[in-house]
Amino acid sequence: MNQEQIKIPQATAKRLPLYYRFLKNLSISGKQRVSSAELSEAVKVDSATIRRDFSYFGALGKKGYGYNVNYLLSFFRKTLNQDEVTKVALIGVGNLGTAFLHYNFIKNNNTVIQVAFDVDPAKVGKEVAGVPIHSIDNIVAELQESDVEVAILTVPVGSAQFIADQLVQAGIKGILNFTPARLTLPAEIRVHHIDLAVELQSLIYFMKHYPSVDL
Ligand code: ATP
Repeated sequence: MNQEQIKIPQATAKRLPLYYRFLKNLSISGKQRVSSAELSEAVKVDSATIRRDFSYFGALGKKGYGYNVNYLLSFFRKTLNQDEVTKVALIGVGNLGTAFLHYNFIKNNNTVIQVAFDVDPAKVGKEVAGVPIHSIDNIVAELQESDVEVAILTVPVGSAQFIADQLVQAGIKGILNFTPARLTLPAEIRVHHIDLAVELQSLIYFMKHYPSVDL
């Protein structure tokens, strides 16, 4: 079963990793079932949304019983491709890139940063947290020969579009863009954009103008 076959709405799909992480912890602690109210409290998503999300997976909670934790887990594992490790490349081993190389993504997701690329000769040839740093000059050929599917972009804004074009040429299908650049890429390439400075500013704005959070 995968997302193509079931067609889960995008907003629901975005919440899957959140549900998956919580349910995995429940399962480890030996819990067999969970109510939508418990889930709602833990993941901070209202329970009507959770019930609707879960109905897309064919998981219908029973009144007074809740949801079967193992059924949901095995569904999420398949849908999120947790049985396969997704290989990731990181481009730009600056402060942010270095932090990501040290971060243990595999702990919660089956993703692993396999290789990093940088332009700085002082960094090329070294390793950070066991990940080799290769020269940006060979990125297209190297990625074409690899089974890397996803790239994390942590280069300066001015280089972002040029590198993203190379990533597309190399066959990368998804980019997690941490630069402020708005990338222009073919429609089939999935780009998720995380601008930490904008997120922080938006948090502060919402704290000032909408101080209470309604679930
Ligand atoms: P950060 O933005 O992560 O805090 P920083 O301030 O340490 O990083 P930046 O100037 O933003 O450094 O560069 C991030 C990294 O991207 C550096 O390691 C730099 O060598 C690398 N870099 C810069 N241009 C390119 C490029 N065209 N291709 C690949 N790597 C690049």
